[in-house]
Formats: sequence, structure tokens, C-alpha cells
Amino acid sequence: MHPFAYTRASDTREALKAGRAGGRYIAGGTTLVDLMRETVERPGTLVDISGLPLRDILVTKEGGLRIGALVRMAEAAAHPAVRAAYPVVSRALELSASAQLRNMATIGGNIMQRTRCTYFRDVTADCNKREPGSGCAALHGVNRSHAILGTSDHCVATHPSDVAVAFAALEARVRLLGPDGEREVPFADFLLRPGSTPQREQAVRQGELITTIEIPALPRPLKSGYLKVRDRQSYEFALTSAAVALHIRGGVIREAKVAAGGVGTVPWKLPAVERHLIGERPSDALWTAAAEKATEGARPLRHNRFKVALLKRTVERQLRVVGGTK
Ligand code: SF4
Repeated sequence: MHPFAYTRASDTREALKAGRAGGRYIAGGTTLVDLMRETVERPGTLVDISGLPLRDILVTKEGGLRIGALVRMAEAAAHPAVRAAYPVVSRALELSASAQLRNMATIGGNIMQRTRCTYFRDVTADCNKREPGSGCAALHGVNRSHAILGTSDHCVATHPSDVAVAFAALEARVRLLGPDGEREVPFADFLLRPGSTPQREQAVRQGELITTIEIPALPRPLKSGYLKVRDRQSYEFALTSAAVALHIRGGVIREAKVAAGGVGTVPWKLPAVERHLIGERPSDALWTAAAEKATEGARPLRHNRFKVALLKRTVERQLRVVGGTK
């Protein structure tokens, strides 16, 4: 590990000042410290923000949710308002990492986490995300766990977060506070596809802090859930996953929010699937036909062709679980 300075921010103003001077924010530290040990990350200064007052979960007056960036994953998963309104968020969190990590890691840190591509974590391998311009060892290496959607010739790594898939499906917004004040970024624009600059992963400017993640109110009743398919039953990243939320009234699907994980360079919203569902009556045939749309634009690699069929089955199954059949 490279030497670094450490400072603890006692309030937001102090944190922003240290962030503006080039400090890296740290709270749970479950990703950053690992990467520092592997010398993938070499921050000069760590700014500990774990004491900032960003640990509330509030129900907005419209009926949405506002989750503080420093809420622990385990706290969010167990919170009665989250469980009642958005089981898809609770479930995605419960299926993430391990109990120990969920007790430490924060929601803000979770959506900022970096890829699990093994070449990214191996400082002897070529990796455009770690060393821009060095190449991508995964393109012609072992790429079974890599992305089939949103890739570029520069990077094919997946985004590892589960709860980010739920946030993408529900069209959450990320609130940021920086030297120029507050701003809000739609989740769809918060995590960046690699393009020719895979080292840029989030739309966060120097010194900005995530303060809250806001989930908009959705029509009720809303049924939702998250399915994660992986090589083993716990402490494993998704090969594929599906976050689904459906508002069904009078036997007709009025609102559909669907996204996939484990397959995209960012959590992958599935608008073609959503469009196929809205205005229709739940049926097995509908789930199958809608799930067919999940892989539009997929570009599988040598070792991950199986993800095309697996993603369709994952989406179909979760649509059936959430929407039921007639
Ligand atoms: Fe690096 Fe991305 Fe290639 Fe992995 S897929 S080696 S993270 S550039």
C-alpha cells in the first residue's frame, strides 16, 4: 500500500474543502481499502466522511424515498419504509456481498464501487480503466463474467452493484453537493458507459459529495422484486440479474420498470421490455415475449455467449414472479 494522509471531516463544509483540494472521500471503505492494498488506487489523502449527517431514510411527501448516502446497506435493506414500498431495493441489497460487508458499506459507496474485472485488479495486466491507453486484457482474455451490453473496444467490464440495478429500474436520482452548490443527476446519467474513456465511471465532479439517492413516487399498488443468478448462492457477483417493478390495475399493466445487472457496463435499463408490457394483461406468453427484448443490441464475447439466453430467462422468470399469471 502506498503512503497516504488521513483526515476526518467534522462537517460538510470541511469535507468539501478537503475534497476540493484533491482528497478522496471514504466512509465504509470496503472497496477503496481493498484497491489501495492492491495498489490499484493510490490516493494521496483520504477524507473520512463517515461522521456526516447523511444517514437518514425519509419518505417524501409525494410517497417516494430519500436515502442518505451514508446509510449502511444492511440498514437500508431492513428499513420498514424500504421493505414496504420497494422490496426490489431491499432484496437487491440482501443479495449483495456478505453480512459483514453490508454492515459496513454505505449506499453512496455502493454505487461508486469499481468493477470486479480481474485484470483491473491485477496491476501487471493491461487495463484501460486503470491505465488509460494500455489496452484491455479482457477483450482476448478470460471474459466469462464480462459485459454483453454497453461495451466498447476500450472496456467490457460490468458494473458490480446490485442495488444500482434497482435504482436504474426505478429511475432514481442522485443528489450531489459540490463547490458550486447542489445538483441532481438522473441515475441513467450517473454511471457512465466506457466509450473511449473507461477510467471515467461516474458523473461526479472533483470534490463533489453524494448526499442522497431519491426514488420517485410510483403509482400504487406496486409489486417489485430482484432476482440474481450467480455461480454460487452467496457472496458472489451476478452473472445476470433482473430488477422488476409493476403497477397492475384492473388486470392491466399500467407501469413497468425493468433493468438488468451482470450484463452491462452500467446497470442496464430495459425500455423495450417495459414498452412491451405496458397496456397488456399478465400472461406467460407476455412474459416470454417481453423478455425476448432484453438482449437487443447485445454483443457477447468469446466466453460469455451464455449470458444472452440466461438474461432472457432471468427477466422472464422475474416478470412471472412479480406479475403472476392468469
Ligand atoms: Fe480493464 Fe475494462 Fe479491460 Fe477489464 S474490461 S481489463 S476493466 S479495460
